Amino acid sequence: MSAQNAASERRVALVTGASRGIGRAIATRLAHDGRRVVLASRSEGPLAELQAEIERAGGSAAYVAVDVGDLAALQSAVEGVIEAEGRLDIVVNNAGITRDGLAMRMSDADFEDVLRVNLSAAFVVCRAAARSMMKQRFGRMVNIGSTSGVVGNAGQANYAAAKAGLIGMTKSLARELGGKGVTANVVAPGFVETDMTANLGDEIRARVLEGMSVKRLGLPEDIAAAVAYVSSDEAGYLTGQTICVDGGLTMS
Ligand code: NAP
Repeated sequence: MSAQNAASERRVALVTGASRGIGRAIATRLAHDGRRVVLASRSEGPLAELQAEIERAGGSAAYVAVDVGDLAALQSAVEGVIEAEGRLDIVVNNAGITRDGLAMRMSDADFEDVLRVNLSAAFVVCRAAARSMMKQRFGRMVNIGSTSGVVGNAGQANYAAAKAGLIGMTKSLARELGGKGVTANVVAPGFVETDMTANLGDEIRARVLEGMSVKRLGLPEDIAAAVAYVSSDEAGYLTGQTICVDGGLTMS
């Protein structure tokens, strides 16, 4: 635990989609770095387990069960966190879903659900956090994008639209809030070993690896390391950026 984050000045971070995968690794890393972490996702059990694990390791955590696709509930949840904690320094919008399919066959529902969970929810969190971050004259907004949002991906018109939307939204937030000490950035993973990629066939896996400079899929901890820096106090001059953590897959 870093001395810089003594309890009195502990930065509070909200991480959505913290129950597993990349979000779990981000929450664990931020707690290790001395943040108080508020874990959010739909399923209470894994959040309670992670909270206990973080506290056993000497960290500080709380959790809130919320479906980020229910935007009104999400808004209340963020307001509740600010009220309970008295501050909110870092938000990491990581909760995400895919509903893949070729565009010609994609239903309106599959398009809209992916936009709501991956993009609208991030907007609601950033908007709800902005006021207290501006008042504090400190804030770090980190939106978890995807290389699909940077270069597109066949079968992911919905997901790529949402992730590209995050980039435009983040740049706009960066322009609006930079003068108040609030930064906004996207961390865009390539292919990372989680439930989301567990069903990639061997052929796709081999093709993906071929396009990568670093010959392995990413680990959740690789993404967490980037988030740890982008959300740190020392990253105050980094804003409006999209950082692809993808083993050299895109290099864009
Ligand atoms: P994952 O293993 O499928 O986990 C998704 C997380 O999001 C879970 O904690 C899940 O929690 C939460 N979540 C999903 N829908 C939610 C909802 N409606 N409300 C609240 N929480 C919700 O995914 P992952 O691979 O860790 O992905 C995390 C982020 O990285 C996503 O934004 C994803 O798009 C992005 N990403 C992943 C990869 C990759 O290769 N894995 C690549 C690029 C980008 P509950 O189910 O408990 O609610």
